[in-house]
Amino acid sequence: MAEQTILVVEDEEDVVELLRYNLARNGYRVEAVTTGPDAVSRAGTLGPDLILLDLMLPGMDGLEVCQILKKDGRTERIPIIMVTAKGDEADVVAGLEMGADDYVTKPFSPRVLLARVKAVLRRPARTKVLEPGTAPMVRVHDLEIDPGRHRVFAKGKIVDLTSTEFSLLYYLASRPGWVFTRYQIVDAVHGSDYPVTDRSIDVQIVGLRRKLGKVGTCIETVRGVGYRFQDADEK
Ligand code: CA
Repeated sequence: MAEQTILVVEDEEDVVELLRYNLARNGYRVEAVTTGPDAVSRAGTLGPDLILLDLMLPGMDGLEVCQILKKDGRTERIPIIMVTAKGDEADVVAGLEMGADDYVTKPFSPRVLLARVKAVLRRPARTKVLEPGTAPMVRVHDLEIDPGRHRVFAKGKIVDLTSTEFSLLYYLASRPGWVFTRYQIVDAVHGSDYPVTDRSIDVQIVGLRRKLGKVGTCIETVRGVGYRFQDADEK
């Protein structure tokens, strides 16, 4: 495979060097810029395979950069991993809702960062929710979801789910590893059998975990942000 290029947007020199060293060692080509406006122009001309985007930047903050990139046809498909400070959950939520793919919290371990980079690069582009009936089967961990027949098996045993629980589980499990905010989940599963709100998502998740038994532990709560279904190679 051709070398993949990662655009690092970061104003702290030592973090840039840490990223550059670890990414280069793993075969990625690294370009770095230190300000928001430079990030926007460089992303457009370079067309990197991935952007690592610090949120606290001079000139223009990372969220604004993310918003501009996701609205521009040339850059909207470039995956973005936000690099955030601890306690920036509100910004993480905002970034994910703008279309950022994932985030890591500083200080990060190079190993965790590389795992996230690899996971995001192998993901298919973020797509609209598929209609049950046309959607493919999902098999992840010990879970099997058949959207055509509206059936779920956990460790081979059938699980009886409500329509909302089914949609919710399908949404999360068909994109293992992705973090979704409550708003994104509400938006995706909206209008199955009764109105879903961000509060009721939490209740639905509790019910879903209980019904799924051990498999239910694959649905992780991401504190202050939302939920994710564990990636297939995480267990
Ligand atoms: Ca910074």
